[in-house]
Amino acid sequence: MSKKQYVVIGLGRFGVSVAQTLFELGNDVLALDSSEEKVQNIADTVTHAVQADATDENSLRAIGIRNFDVAVVSIGEDIQASIMATLLLKEIGVKHVITKANNAMHAKVLRKIGADKVIFPEKDMGARVAHNLVSSNILEYIELSSDYSIAEFVSPASWSGKNLIELQLRGKYGINVVAIKRNNEIDVSPSADEEIESGDIIVAIGSIEDLNKLEHVIE
Ligand code: ATP
Repeated sequence: MSKKQYVVIGLGRFGVSVAQTLFELGNDVLALDSSEEKVQNIADTVTHAVQADATDENSLRAIGIRNFDVAVVSIGEDIQASIMATLLLKEIGVKHVITKANNAMHAKVLRKIGADKVIFPEKDMGARVAHNLVSSNILEYIELSSDYSIAEFVSPASWSGKNLIELQLRGKYGINVVAIKRNNEIDVSPSADEEIESGDIIVAIGSIEDLNKLEHVIE
């Protein structure tokens, strides 16, 4: 993975977590907030931290914001500031701007003004937790769109010793197995004659409707 320059704007819990994780993964991270205290708190755990108002074009230009590959805007409460900052970042020419939205209307405006990606962390995490509660065998659940998801689950005991052709997962459940995890190793795009072993973790892609049906089978 190539090292990229990231700027994270808005240091609430989400912004801090994004900034620190990007830094731990070996990237250059500038953390930016209008609050001096937030800046102080994160200073030791990212590359640079700076106090600035993200809705002030001159401040953004002075920081050299244009040189960053990716900007993550995580200003929650102040929707106007979130929209202004996103607009300025795109106007100044940051290639990839990802903004956290609070609600559907906020998301719509962000997309209109050119946000490359709009995220809803609370909504996504809520869905994951709910799926994990409904079926404790669901380990991960990622919504790819309003129609499709990827689910990672422990293979049911009844699948052991059978291969993917015999299980007919595509025919019966409409899902495609994209990977099998076994003993900390991942077999990406497993062959159809791959036999499932007890304890295997299956990563599958499918429509949300089909994956929901499957969840009841693997409960
Ligand atoms: P959490 O991630 O904890 O749920 P949140 O999404 O509710 O937080 P807020 O607390 O609303 O986020 O704001 C995140 C940060 O954004 C705050 O630290 C705030 O100081 C900062 N912020 C707000 N407006 C601006 C601005 N114009 N420029 C820079 N930072 C700002």
